[in-house]
Amino acid sequence: MSKSQIMFIGLDDTDSKKGGCTTYLAAVLIGKLERFKVKFIDYPSLIRLNPNVPWKTRGNGALCLRFRYSPESEAEIKKTAIALWQQHSAINEKGTDPGIVFYKNPEIPTELVAFSKKTETAIVTLKEAMALVKKIGAEAFGFNSKRGIIGALAAIGETLKGDFTYELIAYRTPENLGSKRSVDVDSIFRMDEATLPYTFNNVDTEKGRVIITPRGPDPILFGIRGETPEIVKKAFELVEPLEPVERWVIFRSNQGTDAHLKPVKALSLIEPYTSVIAKGIVSQNPRIIPLRHVIFSITDGSAQVDCAAYEPTGNLRKITRDLVFGDTVEVYGAVHKPTSAKPLTINLEKLDVINLATKILLENPLCPNCGKRLKSMGKNQGFRCEKCGSQYPDIKKKESIVQRMLQTGLYVTSIRSQRHLTKPLRRYGQEKSDGANQPLIREWHYP
Ligand code: ZN
Repeated sequence: MSKSQIMFIGLDDTDSKKGGCTTYLAAVLIGKLERFKVKFIDYPSLIRLNPNVPWKTRGNGALCLRFRYSPESEAEIKKTAIALWQQHSAINEKGTDPGIVFYKNPEIPTELVAFSKKTETAIVTLKEAMALVKKIGAEAFGFNSKRGIIGALAAIGETLKGDFTYELIAYRTPENLGSKRSVDVDSIFRMDEATLPYTFNNVDTEKGRVIITPRGPDPILFGIRGETPEIVKKAFELVEPLEPVERWVIFRSNQGTDAHLKPVKALSLIEPYTSVIAKGIVSQNPRIIPLRHVIFSITDGSAQVDCAAYEPTGNLRKITRDLVFGDTVEVYGAVHKPTSAKPLTINLEKLDVINLATKILLENPLCPNCGKRLKSMGKNQGFRCEKCGSQYPDIKKKESIVQRMLQTGLYVTSIRSQRHLTKPLRRYGQEKSDGANQPLIREWHYP
């Protein structure tokens, strides 16, 4: 083998509402590439992009494969990748805009790293992506609007040097696609028990429901997320599928890392379509709107914004009902643009209750004569007793401090409503900061 080179292949947006899945394309491509004796230098990465992009496909995930190869096979490798990508892309589906990008320099330019970060937190245009493709000497192909090139390029630039997680995804055989997934549910609960806290989002304990099996026509049988390749592999072996597994792959990912959330210094700087972490003081008490959603407002002097906890956020919604005027909070969530019906709103994913205000209750005093609760005679008119007839024109309302049931601390939306990128409570304290590439475990994919 002559001197080997490094290639990156980025893939995005091949799936549609009717099926398909970019992770599956990557899984199949791994097998095809091994015929060219490539040597993978990292797990394939599964990068979730900004979940608030209005035109996103279901999961808004992009993929990258990184490997050493022999330069003689370069043309064949690209040809194989493009052919497979075309075959798996739902080109004729509206809203599917597949992209594939090849990049050969082993160094990832800082500009590309910055571009990737932006695709996770904000809106990026195809024009920006194409200018960068040209500048760094990458090759990009796309169908339809070609918007998938944005994600494909971003997946190459996200080197996961900060916090990251793993996901083992198991796929179904073609004849089972579209039918109900068949996995032993008890084995999933046992797997969760046996691997916690090193795996996450397996089950929704609040509803007693399994989360690892998706619904819908895509080829994923189940996916297990966790802290190391070894633990997701172990968890996979504990789950009992009741239908054949065609293949499985361990991906390295930004899922469960809060990569989409960007701290903002002032509420006035918040922009729609981003996800933010913002601090403020409750300026309007929570109110319950139809469908049991809860809305409250916060201010920091620069602006006032609404915060919404929707019904599926579960416990988070219950907590927000107990906030009162003056509480100091940090809110985490996606920013929705104002409409004629509602102002700029942050849809809560997390809430950090930092400081509780004193909640004062004003009550009518008790009758000094007989102990019965007094009735007001009108504003500033004093009180009278209905039982003994005494009148007290000079008595004021009694102030009492209400014991707050709410406790300070971090609250996270229910598992069933967490986004792919939301860092679940179970991961707190397990964050990684050494994105240095570890050697791959021996069996990280099948076949
Ligand atoms: Zn009385």
